[in-house]
Amino acid sequence: MLDGHGRLIDYLRISVTDRCDLRCRYCMSETMQFLPRREVLTLEEIAVIAERFIARGVRKIRLSGGEPLVRRDFGALARALGRHVHDGTLDELTLTTNGTQLAHHAGMLVEAGVRRINVSLDSLDPATFAYITRGGELEQVLAGIAAARQAGLKVKINMVALRGLNDGEVLPMLQYCDANGHDLTLIETMPLGEIDDDRSDRYLPLHEAIMPVRDMYDIAPVTYRTGGPARYFVVSGLDARLGLITPLSDNFCAGCNRMRLTCQGRIYMCLGHEDHIDLKAAFREHGVDGIDTLLDRALATKPKAHDFHVDKGAAPATRRHMSVTGG
Ligand code: SAM
Ligand code: SF4
Repeated sequence: MLDGHGRLIDYLRISVTDRCDLRCRYCMSETMQFLPRREVLTLEEIAVIAERFIARGVRKIRLSGGEPLVRRDFGALARALGRHVHDGTLDELTLTTNGTQLAHHAGMLVEAGVRRINVSLDSLDPATFAYITRGGELEQVLAGIAAARQAGLKVKINMVALRGLNDGEVLPMLQYCDANGHDLTLIETMPLGEIDDDRSDRYLPLHEAIMPVRDMYDIAPVTYRTGGPARYFVVSGLDARLGLITPLSDNFCAGCNRMRLTCQGRIYMCLGHEDHIDLKAAFREHGVDGIDTLLDRALATKPKAHDFHVDKGAAPATRRHMSVTGG
């Protein structure tokens, strides 16, 4: 599939639920209102829609949320989509998770055909972790990561860089990743949805966040890509690769290959725009036949780039949170 700017679109991210068992401060407000269940696609509907996207040329799917592993029967969806990995019609099925439920699900993921997952881990200090996530338990996530590794999953750690909260932890996190066989991706905080704080207070450009790493190690860019927006670096003397996702300080939209399906059945062609195509009604009325025309319309309207700013007091770029669209 080509979009209106000639970019090849072969990567679909699906938010399987907007709900979550954590309330990370940069992602959600403390009193989040979640979608009524009747507005959310069933797992069977998600599988059928995703299969149509695969037939149109999607080669990689990432399941996300909210927290995908809190959705009941999530395994049925993973198995349905994993069949396409086994028969070669999909190159990769991956997952982004906060890790709290991983210890129970790691085996199921491997059986389904998942080989690599991203786990969000913003701090290795139990108190800071609990503060950022509003009550999360670090030990539970570390146990989940260990279980995933034991089950044979390759784990990449995602860390959102937050000024004054975890800026002193970038180097220790990289060393933890090196010691445990993970790559590390740092992410700049993006202005998506209202939260309780002002994001500008916490925004930390990544060239600044990695200064302690540069002080200690040589880093060099590599061509390695995982299909997402991260640019990777090798760090001299360490096994862990360092990925940087810089939507604010260094725009990467020219290489965008992604579209997103939300748990409400909407296609968003850009994380940072409100424009979307509502698939759910057409799908419920006409089945898969209704999908193709809407998909073509979505491709034609994919914006050239997002336009994020994290300025003091500025409104978010979108009213929806990352958890609705799927990170
Ligand atoms: N709950 C899962 C998790 O935390 O990994 C999956 C969903 S979460 C929305 C996906 C990724 O988006 C996580 O790595 C999270 O840290 C990141 N994220 C959430 N809100 C963000 C924001 N406003 N800016 C940057 N990254 C954000
Ligand atoms: Fe939940 Fe992930 Fe958002 Fe944290 S970042 S609140 S774990 S959806």
